[in-house]
Amino acid sequence: MALQTSSTVLNSLSALNKFSSAQEVYSHIQKTKKNIGLSTVYRTLQKLAESEEVDFLRRPDGEGVYKVCAQSHHHHLLCANCGASAEFQSDKFEKLLESISKEYGYTVQGHEAEIVGLCKKCGR
Ligand SMILES: [Zn+2]
Ligand SMILES: [Zn+2]
Repeated sequence: MALQTSSTVLNSLSALNKFSSAQEVYSHIQKTKKNIGLSTVYRTLQKLAESEEVDFLRRPDGEGVYKVCAQSHHHHLLCANCGASAEFQSDKFEKLLESISKEYGYTVQGHEAEIVGLCKKCGR
């Protein structure tokens, strides 16, 4: 059952194909006539994020949002207005983070970096 729940949530999130809140995923699941409660959707999303099966971001309004992303290491750009997002990979950026860590005498174990702004459409 738990496995079925998480695959239902994953399928919905894939279909939405953008950073979505638990409420948005829940609404989407309801349309498919599957009976999963909002709190279950919420918990399942948290678990999927913990096991890194989905990516998690916090929107500028504080709402946690989730998305099924590429498995390889990447970062996000997120539009604060419409919620559009893009993934990017940049060796330059990775090297910069490494040199900053070195400068402070830190050994890198991981990092998270997201850019929040306005997308092309909303920035006009
Ligand atoms: Zn936008
Ligand atoms: Zn990185």
